[in-house]
This record gives sequence, structure tokens and C-alpha cells, in this order.
Amino acid sequence: VDTQGNVTFKRLPITQLVEALQLGIQYTVGGLQAKAAHDVLYQDFLTVEIIHFPKEGTKTTPAHRFYDFTIRSYAPVAFRHFRELFNIKPDEFLYSICKPLRELKNPGASGSLFYLTSDDEFILKTVQKKEAEFLKCLLPGYYMNVTQNPRTLLPKFFGLYCYQGENKNIRITVMNNLIPSHVQMHEKYDLKGSTYKRRANSAERRKESPTWKDLDFMERHPDGLLLDTETFNALAKTVQRDCRVLESFRIMDYSFLIGVHQVDAAAESGGDRTMLNPVCTPGEQTSVQPKRMMYSTPMDTIQVEFDEHNKPDDHLVKTGGIPARTASGQRLLLYVGIIDILQSYHIRKKLEHTFKSVLTDGTQISVTNPSFYSERFQKFLFTTVFKKAPPLRESPVKRRS
Ligand code: ATP
Ligand code: CA
Ligand code: CA
Repeated sequence: VDTQGNVTFKRLPITQLVEALQLGIQYTVGGLQAKAAHDVLYQDFLTVEIIHFPKEGTKTTPAHRFYDFTIRSYAPVAFRHFRELFNIKPDEFLYSICKPLRELKNPGASGSLFYLTSDDEFILKTVQKKEAEFLKCLLPGYYMNVTQNPRTLLPKFFGLYCYQGENKNIRITVMNNLIPSHVQMHEKYDLKGSTYKRRANSAERRKESPTWKDLDFMERHPDGLLLDTETFNALAKTVQRDCRVLESFRIMDYSFLIGVHQVDAAAESGGDRTMLNPVCTPGEQTSVQPKRMMYSTPMDTIQVEFDEHNKPDDHLVKTGGIPARTASGQRLLLYVGIIDILQSYHIRKKLEHTFKSVLTDGTQISVTNPSFYSERFQKFLFTTVFKKAPPLRESPVKRRS
């Protein structure tokens, strides 16, 4: 907070950052519509569109109440293609981005800002310079993977921008939102498969909806979360495929995010009114909007259809959460994805590892090499977190196939 009482980021009033960005995105995405669609060429990954927004406006840019600023839009044509792949129309994208954004409280240590679009589809996250540089290098390969396999739990990047003004550079990515805000999340976990310092700190624990970590999970769900065999296998397969991609880019330190909606608890407390979404007033029954984006729900991604005997009789099924149970038989819907993938393994990390492993058991710290990281990640998820549920005795309905 600055001397005038404005909330700031890198000493820039946040309202200015957000509005400048909205203007910039409007301009670059809008301008793209004039350019005919064509196949993405390698050069398209290297292009940077630079748009100046002087305070007094120009022939093509509006006047505004802030200082002069510049928006750099990275690989605009390539990102347009990513958006098309997921059926995001340019006007819908603009509409999402330009409506007022909601700030999310970030439990991460990085100090990144997170914004959610009011239609719940996108998250804007500020990233460090080296993360933005890494994303730029990653784009062609990432493009190849996403095109081959759009059913992925990896983050989907829909844009990379840089705000420049008053000698500051602030880089922002646009990604898909994993946690629908109109579904009440009773628990949220950020899991890495490591136990070293993987417990939510006291500040986080005091929050109304904390993001718990690995050790918290093991305490709270010692018997894990039960999935039926088909779902378990499909999820494991998807994660395995995604981890291969991450490993190939030497990426580490990513997390598996799980939002847990307790179906029974929600029914008892009188419906699925959300408590996390300040947009709807208490008591109001929220209508569940199916996602517009393609392959965006967990159920769509892992490609499992509900078994007849297993179909939760709940209107939230439309949200595409993965049905699961606790060991005690509580019904759940899970919202999942892999997040925070812009950290790559490099020499600094190597040093960090050798240094830390002198202090602790080298297998338990979260900075190790990419293939080890991926293996430990998957092992944790599919032995400790998710387990195959024993078939339900009370409903002997035949399996779908
Ligand atoms: P750090 O580097 O300290 O781990 P960070 O600032 O890079 O943190 P992330 O790890 O990307 O932040 O995310 C922090 C939290 O934000 C997650 O635990 C999750 O609660 C939320 N979050 C991140 N990405 C998404 C997403 N795509 N959809 C919904 N929630 C998200
Ligand atoms: Ca993280
Ligand atoms: Ca991070």
C-alpha cells in the first residue's frame, strides 16, 4: 500500500495495472480480427506486438487517466491459435477479460497476483521475468503437445503480456481457471509429492478456505480419496502423459491442485449455494453455467463418462467435477489440474539441491531433478492421494463395458 492508500504491485497502483492490461488486450486481440487466420508459422512464436498508450491518446488508442504505458503482446497469432483450439472466440475472450476482474488471495510465496474473470473461465497471473522468458521458449513445443493432445491437465496458456511504464515491467499470463467459483469448495490442496516443508503455514491455516499441502492431506485423508477403477486409470493415464511432457521440458516444482466439493455436506447445509463467491448474495440459488471452453473440465479431460450407477444425482455434475468418495463413504466432486509449471531445472537449482541434501534427506526435498520429481509426484498421487475404490456392494449394476 502506497502513501496515498492505493494497493500497489512493484509500486504501481494495481487498478492501473489491471486497466492498462485490459486496454492492451482489447487492442491486440481486437486488432487480430483484422488479420486473416492462417497456419501458425515458427516466426509467430517469436513475434512481439508493441502498443504504446500515451496518456493523451493517439489516432488508434484512447486517452486515459494513467501515466503513459506500453503493452507488449507476445506471440499474438500463436496464442490466437491456442484459443481457437479450445473454442474460445475472440469476442468472448475480450468480453471475459474486459469485465471487472476479481482478485484472488494467493497462498503462494512468490507474491504473484492472481485475477479471476467474472465469467469464471480465466485466471490472470503475474509471473517473474525468468518465467516469462521460459514460457516464450516453451511455446513451440508446448503448442505441439497441446495440438496433439488437447485433453491435458497442464495449464492452458491463452496469452502472455508485459506492462511497461514508469521503468517497470510486469509480465502477465492468461490461463484457464481450475476451480469453479460457483461450486463450494470445502477443501483445497496443492500437492507436490514431497513432504519437506509441505504443510500450510499458520497464516494460511487461519484463512476461511486454506490451501492445504502434502502433509496436511496425509493427516486429513489418511486413507486417500477413492475413485472407481475406470476413473482412477483414466486420471493416472492423463497425469502420466502430462508428466512426460513436463519432464521433456525439464520442468519441476509444479503442483497438483485439487478442489474438493463435499456433495453430502453441501446437501445438508441446504444446497450448493456458494460461500466463496461474493458475487451472489447468500440464499440465492446459483445457476451452474457449463464451461464454454472445450476440454476444460476434469471429466472432459480424462475422458470418463459417468457410470449409470455412479452418477451423482446432483446438478453440479454439469461442472464436470470428478466423482470420488472418502474412506467413510462421503461423496465428493473433485476439480483438478497441474499448476505452476514455469520453473525449469537449471544450474542454480542444481546447486540448491547439493546444498540442501547435505542438510536433509535428499529424496524428500522439493528441489530435485525433473525425472525424479515427476516420478515422485505420480507415485504420491496414485498411491497416497487417489486409491481404487472397492466396488460398491449395494448397487450391483453391470459395468458399462
Ligand atoms: P509459489 O511459486 O510460491 O508456489 P505462485 O505464486 O507461483 O506460488 P501458484 O503455485 O501458481 O502460485 O498458485 C498458487 C495458488 O493459486 C494455488 O495453490 C491455487 O490455490 C491457486 N491457483 C493457481 N493456479 C490456478 C488455476 N489455474 N486455477 C485455480 N486456482 C489456481
Ligand atoms: Ca506453486
Ligand atoms: Ca511459482
